Amino acid sequence: MNMDFYRKLAIPMEVKEMFPVTHSVSETMERKVLELKQILDGRSDRLLLVIGPCSADNEDSVLDYISRLCPVQEKVKEKIMIVPRIYTNKPRTTGDGYKGLLHQPVPTDKPDLFKGIIATRELHMRAVAETGFGCADEMLYPENHKYLDDILVYVAVGARSVEDQQHRLTASGIEVPVGMKNPTSGDYSVMMNAILAAHHEHTFIYRGWEAHSFGNPYTHAILRGFTNKHGQHQPNYHYEDLELLCDFFEKTELPHPAALIDTNHSNSGKDPFMQPRIIREVLQSRSYDPRIKKLVKGFMVESYIESGAQPVGGGVYGKSITDPCLGWTETERMIYEIAEML
Ligand code: PEP
Ligand code: MN
Repeated sequence: MNMDFYRKLAIPMEVKEMFPVTHSVSETMERKVLELKQILDGRSDRLLLVIGPCSADNEDSVLDYISRLCPVQEKVKEKIMIVPRIYTNKPRTTGDGYKGLLHQPVPTDKPDLFKGIIATRELHMRAVAETGFGCADEMLYPENHKYLDDILVYVAVGARSVEDQQHRLTASGIEVPVGMKNPTSGDYSVMMNAILAAHHEHTFIYRGWEAHSFGNPYTHAILRGFTNKHGQHQPNYHYEDLELLCDFFEKTELPHPAALIDTNHSNSGKDPFMQPRIIREVLQSRSYDPRIKKLVKGFMVESYIESGAQPVGGGVYGKSITDPCLGWTETERMIYEIAEML
């Protein structure tokens, strides 16, 4: 093969032995997963808000950001469940650029996957232990999910991965809710097929094992907008888009039909300041049609300490080095506004 094999990495069991979850962390996890499932299956009518930076590029600023969410969560807890995004793997449109904490624990340095595995697990552990939140990550590399499977309450499959068999089969073996994004082309049927596949049992090869998954009844949809043949961003959060999604779900016999709206990416055209407006519009659509209200359980928002984005190595604390995010001041205001609208 046209590659070097540098070194054999520790397997998930070994890394978990080095950094085991504490009793109180696993209790938090259990409680949060239950709360999430209650929202997704309709036992609770709280709104789900998966929110945080596009990429978790720096342990200090990410923990700082999540700590700021704590008092806000406390104030809105009757109406909103907040799940911080700690995204440690970044898919890149052309393959180039910062690939996330897993690859580059220091974004300006060369990749170091061993350090990255440790940094990723440490950040996730500290976030839960120090803030009491249950957190989310994207499953970009299905084989790596086992490094974190005891510490995530929510997993997303991204727009570039949702048509991939290994992602779908792995999702079917995950115990916590998995959100399937629509693909970058916007085709709902690709996302719906991913959701269906993940609901079923499968036998497949996983990390060198012949493994059997039991199906994940909490796999759901995430609408993130799409790009057309000219490469232009197109939204899919408008009323008609949500009606269409309801129609798609009605043709299935899924136990818990559910969807989130990702307010950034192609939905905002990567203008993060559009996110509060998009949420307002979707909440309006929810109040107009009970079908939409029942299906759309919440939002995924890209938010960080500073608004916007900077190049890798830009040096501004708490400012995204991948997609532009909504800053903290606007974020806090937005969450209280949402709570008032509910
Ligand atoms: C993200 O959530 O930051 C992301 C990469 O999303 P998508 O897969 O929708 O592009
Ligand atoms: Mn992003």
